[in-house]
Amino acid sequence: MPAFAVIGAQWGDEGKGKIVDYLAQHCQYVVRFSGGNNAGHTVINEMGEFAFHLVPSGIFWPQVTCIVGNGVVIDPDVLLDEIRKLQERGVDTSRLLISDRTHVIMPYHVRLDALEERARGGSAIGTTGKGVGPAYVDKVGRVGIRAGDLLEAGHSTTFLPRLAHVVKQKNAIITSVYQGEPFSLEKLQARCVEWGQRLAPYIRPTEPVVHQAIARKENLLLEGAQGTMLDVDHGTYPFVTSSSPSVGGACIGLGIPPHVITGVIGVFKAYSTRVGGGPLPTELHDATGEAIRQRAWEYGTTTGRPRRCGWFDAVAARYSAAVNGFTSLVLTRLDVLDGFPSVKVCVAYRLDGKTLNQLPTNTSVLDRCQPVYEELPGWDQPTASVNHRAGLPERALRYAARIEELIGVPIDLISTGPRREETVVVRPMIKA
Ligand code: GDP
Repeated sequence: MPAFAVIGAQWGDEGKGKIVDYLAQHCQYVVRFSGGNNAGHTVINEMGEFAFHLVPSGIFWPQVTCIVGNGVVIDPDVLLDEIRKLQERGVDTSRLLISDRTHVIMPYHVRLDALEERARGGSAIGTTGKGVGPAYVDKVGRVGIRAGDLLEAGHSTTFLPRLAHVVKQKNAIITSVYQGEPFSLEKLQARCVEWGQRLAPYIRPTEPVVHQAIARKENLLLEGAQGTMLDVDHGTYPFVTSSSPSVGGACIGLGIPPHVITGVIGVFKAYSTRVGGGPLPTELHDATGEAIRQRAWEYGTTTGRPRRCGWFDAVAARYSAAVNGFTSLVLTRLDVLDGFPSVKVCVAYRLDGKTLNQLPTNTSVLDRCQPVYEELPGWDQPTASVNHRAGLPERALRYAARIEELIGVPIDLISTGPRREETVVVRPMIKA
């Protein structure tokens, strides 16, 4: 069976872009299943450095067809800009397909994202402000516009009445609740017509393409965005994203049955980071946290915001593994911990005098949890750029082995730098 899901196992930004680019060499399809252009996947290879928000990170491999699945929400301007930049740098984008069921982030979603976040005041979620949340709200509210709809955006009897209904609703909210400027229906329709024309070569029903690939037993990489701890159901609600970055989202976001997913690859970084609000039990407010941030340049790809940094949280990691059923782990950014005299792993939480081994559901409870740390010796020899297991310092391997043991799933790949070749294959996960 041919499908391998690459899942963000923490709070996002684990380095999935690099891992997808690396693993795609063995695949014929890379299909993105959730999130929108709030994601920022960085790929560095022989063609240079690329930051992807919507295009799947497998686009560089000539044998790979890239699909943006129905579970994704797209801002057409962002997508068209990404396609143009790739083309300018000589990347063939004719292998890109967009599901006609993919929902469109409309300009009123972007505006409402900012207005709603501002209104939340002190309890702001820290959204990326790209309109992703409001677009998913409209999807579930059954007033969304899908990529397939853009192809008939000029129709006055089918498309226009639907758009008119939703624009009327949005304008009522924007003007009465937020005292903002209303959107012009005519201008919005004209933009949809233009988007439809420009994206037409890419938009089509993609489920049959995926199903046929599965029937032919080709290798598919299912590319996740964000991370499990940000899952709208399983994350630290309400400080979550509006979609399902966990493995269940792959079935819904592509239209595939669960049994075809035989590999569930959990991508963890060697420590923890989080951007935006919400609990991060191992967050470090000291010089060590700052050292990690500076050394790893932990600033968001999409927003440039500093990421909050802390030690590896094995309680959250075990929970993430249970939700996703990881069959393999990838440990990224091990090099960031090079040279620390010691490294810590959170093995449990303390709350009101009790030890907790499981992640509490309630965010306010998780906020009060104190990490219980196990301290391991650091390593003097660098792991940076090492590309074979024997080249890794013994103590770094011991750290990785302890994480493996705490989660109960093998680490099959270790990433020691942002470049493709800075990768240690412990055990091949995908057969070509
Ligand atoms: P994603 O959203 O999960 O794809 O993660 P991001 O791309 O936002 O963040 C990962 C960052 O880490 C990018 O700048 C990558 O180039 C970089 N990166 C990925 N793997 C490694 C690694 O093993 N070591 C280092 N130092 N950087 C890495």
